[in-house]
Amino acid sequence: MSEPASAGVKTLDPTKFQDPTWTAKGERRASVALRGLTTLWFNTGTLCNLTCGHCYIESSPTNDRLAYITTSDVVPYLDEIARDGLPTREIGFTGGEPFMNPDFIAMLETTLERGFHALVLTNAMRPMMKVANALKALRERFGEMLVVRVSIDHYTQALHEIERGKNSWRPAVAGLEWLGRNGFAPRVAGRTFWGEPEAALRRGYARFFAEHGIALDANDREQLVLFPEMDATLDVPEITTACWGILHVDPASLMCASSRMVVKRKGEANAVVMPCTLIPYDDRFVMGESLAAAAEDVMLNHPHCARFCVLGGGSCSRGA
Ligand code: SF4
Repeated sequence: MSEPASAGVKTLDPTKFQDPTWTAKGERRASVALRGLTTLWFNTGTLCNLTCGHCYIESSPTNDRLAYITTSDVVPYLDEIARDGLPTREIGFTGGEPFMNPDFIAMLETTLERGFHALVLTNAMRPMMKVANALKALRERFGEMLVVRVSIDHYTQALHEIERGKNSWRPAVAGLEWLGRNGFAPRVAGRTFWGEPEAALRRGYARFFAEHGIALDANDREQLVLFPEMDATLDVPEITTACWGILHVDPASLMCASSRMVVKRKGEANAVVMPCTLIPYDDRFVMGESLAAAAEDVMLNHPHCARFCVLGGGSCSRGA
């Protein structure tokens, strides 16, 4: 069986990603300014019905490092957006598995009632199907303002289940089909672990969508998002201020230029804001309890900043 693309790559130099301002080589670290908060993510909690092999957030049936967030945690942030006239159009929900959160349908409804678009990342398995009627009712009420994105790690059952575990394929495909049959225009998130060229991956997904009657364009990067491997233990260059020009990357294109993520850490009374969905735990990236406090620049002091965002070109935002 194929190994992940990282096989044989050396481990991260421990002197890297230490100082917020300077790299290990003494160069000035790159930072990203918030251009406008167009998407606000909520992590609904890290508990999940699956234990995936390369889950960037290490979700599982026992990982509750991020607690279930509640509607009463969410509402003050929606209030702050309205009060301060922030340009936020989209509220994203990720986990863990959001549909395992007992308050999830309520917070989704509150979000949609406030006029935001909502994007839900799910494995579309039993937790989603348990609330299928309520979800369908929201779709009927709010139409295309509600988008559900399903994780299908590969277009074949064998590789999907290597990552997500035995018996994870059929329920996910059934959930995706249910969404298609019930008026949703589902999105899919796949992975690029196995060294397969992107064009071949997209062709494979196109065949899979056709076979299952899913009306989704595999060549549309919003409808089918492909995420690269994210392993913070592997070595990667640090990003300096000179990198933008060398790599021709616009810092405004990175997720932390337009997004933030709210998390509720286990045992803490209040939610806090992190710069993006990719860095849920690192205390160095806690930006405060309000969106105003989280408006400062983000120093790219994490391996994910380099591997996933600047060098890998990935993003969790809807338009990526
Ligand atoms: S991981 Fe990406 S989006 Fe998150 S802070 Fe780093 S550069 Fe920004």
